[in-house]
Amino acid sequence: MDQSFIMIKPDGVHRGLVGEIIGRFEKKGFTLKGLKLQIVERGFAEKHYEELSDKPFFTKLVDYIISGPVVAMVWEGKNVITTGRKMIGATNPSNSEPGTIRGDFAIEMGRNVIHGSDSAESAKKEIALWFPDGPVS
Ligand code: ATP
Ligand code: MG
Repeated sequence: MDQSFIMIKPDGVHRGLVGEIIGRFEKKGFTLKGLKLQIVERGFAEKHYEELSDKPFFTKLVDYIISGPVVAMVWEGKNVITTGRKMIGATNPSNSEPGTIRGDFAIEMGRNVIHGSDSAESAKKEIALWFPDGPVS
């Protein structure tokens, strides 16, 4: 069964959106397979976003991710990677449709509430990074 790594970013946790976001994934029909609240260190955040390391916004992005606790999750279900990305909405909240998580709760690219794996390959890599003991089987 498909699995995706979903992370509520520090602004989402700080603003009290954890229950709202988990509720959306539950009500859609996906199954929670891993969950933890974690403060990540710089090196770990850099590893998570290593594909973006040459981007001009990389340092700012890492500063944001380490600015407070995040909620790291594994969700499972049919097409969860693609559907999860649709539920999250476009990267830039100015382009995120209302009804998506970013469309409903964010206005800035640098504070866009949530992360979701963008491919089967990145989901596998991210789940291994964040849940080295594996999700619940
Ligand atoms: P995420 O990986 O966090 O789910 P995404 O897959 O929608 O987001 P990516 O291209 O992977 O988008 O970028 C990761 C994060 O880097 C974005 O969520 C955003 O916070 C930030 N980011 C992306 N592009 C820019 C940009 N042009 N300027 C500033 N920040 C950016
Ligand atoms: Mg991404």
